[in-house]
Formats: sequence, C-alpha cells, structure tokens
Amino acid sequence: MTTLYVHHPIFTEHLVPSGHPERPDRIRAIEEALSDERFDGLLRRMAPAADIDVATIAHDREYVDLIRGNVPAEGFVRLDADTFMSPRSLEVALHAVGGACLAADEVMRGAAANAFCAVRPPGHHAEADRAMGFCLFNNAVIAARHAQKAHGAERVAIVDWDVHHGNGTQAIVWSDPTVLYASTHQMPLYPGTGAPEETGVGNIVNVPLSPGSGSDAFQRAFLDRILPSVDGFAPDLVVISAGFDAHKSDPLAAINLTEADFAWATEALMEIADRRCQGRIVSLLEGGYDLEALAASVAAHVAALMSA
Ligand SMILES: [Zn+2]
Repeated sequence: MTTLYVHHPIFTEHLVPSGHPERPDRIRAIEEALSDERFDGLLRRMAPAADIDVATIAHDREYVDLIRGNVPAEGFVRLDADTFMSPRSLEVALHAVGGACLAADEVMRGAAANAFCAVRPPGHHAEADRAMGFCLFNNAVIAARHAQKAHGAERVAIVDWDVHHGNGTQAIVWSDPTVLYASTHQMPLYPGTGAPEETGVGNIVNVPLSPGSGSDAFQRAFLDRILPSVDGFAPDLVVISAGFDAHKSDPLAAINLTEADFAWATEALMEIADRRCQGRIVSLLEGGYDLEALAASVAAHVAALMSA
C-alpha cells in the first residue's frame, strides 16, 4: 500500500501581504522537496474543491457565509490581526478542505495506507465562528468529522505538533467525546491557550513545552502523554495537524527540533495506528515558516509515512 500525497498548484494562489510568513513559497518548497526521486512511490492526487457546505461540519453557517461574503475583488481583506483573504482565497481554502476530505476518503476506504496533504491556508486556529492566526477553515476537524460522517469512524484522534496551540481545533471539539485532541506546543506563545488544565470532556490533552526545549522534552511529551492518550483512545483514524514550526530554524518560535524529530513522531504514531486502526493516518500541513527547514521536515515526515 502506498502513501497518498494530496497537492494542487492553486495552493500558491492564496496571497498575503509582503513579509507575511504564511506565504505561497511554502508550497513551492514542499513541491520541490517531494519531486526528488525517492518520493516516486507516492500516489499523487490533486485536491478537489469542496462544496462550501462541507465547512459547516466544523463551522457555524453564519461564519461560512461571512467568509463567502468577504472575498475581495482585488487586494486584501483583513479578517483578524494577521489573517487575510485575497481574491482567490475562498477557492483555495475550499481546495484545502476538499483535499483533507479526499485524503480521509482514500485512507478510510483502504485505497492508501496513509496520506499527507500539502495545503494552505492552514486550519488549526480557525474556530467555529472566527478566522484566526492565518487560518480560515479548520481542515483537521473537517477531515475528522468527514471520516465519521461518510465512513462510520467512531473515534478520531487529532495529534497537533505545530509549535502553536490549536485553539480552534480544541474549541470546536471541546465537548465532543468522539474526537481526541492531543497537542504539544510552546508556551508562552500565540495564541495563549493550551494549558494542561484545559481538558474538555476528558478528550483534550495539552502538553506545553518551555521556550528553548528540544528533542528530549518533545520526545518525553510524546512518550509520557501524547502517545498513551492516543493509544488509550483506540482511534479509527489518526489525523495529524502537521506544523513544522517547532524546528530550530523557524523564525516564529523557540523550540529546537530537527527534521529527525518529526520522523520519530511520525513513526511513533504509525506504530499505534498500525495496532489500532490498520495504520490509518491523514496528515495535514499547518505551520512551518523557514523554507529550508519546512522542506526538510516535510521530506522526513513523508519518508516515514512511506515506510508503512
Ligand atoms: Zn504554528
């Protein structure tokens, strides 16, 4: 069985003001890294556009309508301090949602062992009723709930190793015992949520890392808290909010991981997924803002997924 790589050139068409870290070049760096011959074995599929109604499995109808109504004819519309829409942003965001759902479809029906989706804009800061932190639609929650709705998955674990806490994912699944949200993130750091005391209905596991932490603290967090939680939850699917901004070269945070740590975490989750849910993993790109580190980290992550 193969690893599915979901991509699309449209992911470079969500534009942001000059100097914004969440930029189209991120996708170009990933596409180039995965064009290497060692990734020839990937099953490559273009992300289809989702119908906008699909977003309502994670978001309020009023919010989805607000996003639809805010598409600028030119230039930018600013939705929060650092979240923008350009003329094609809605279309791009719907391809991100569609790509996440395609990956869930293919992995759930056994057409691929696992999947990585190189999508943008990212999703984990987007709440049910607001855009935030570069994010419009919460791709991870949509993938999880789509797997539940369309494929009968009972429990889905979302593991988020982006260096920022996924406040949006946490808020949306806060009282949903069928979705586990387990996150490592730097604290203090944007957006400020993610304390260990935030536990939802027992389905939220937050493991904050101090600025300056490296591989040891990250692996400890996984071994002591994240992995046992995921294993104990016995998920039917594991969704990874795969941000690579905890890399030591990343300009937005102060955690010192290397690409080898992302490969390690991928393999650790694969071992649980193998035992619990026939290896089913859907990984979605979140952050990661140093282009070289992003490319190397995605390559290490995808190479690990391909070892299934
Ligand atoms: Zn991030």
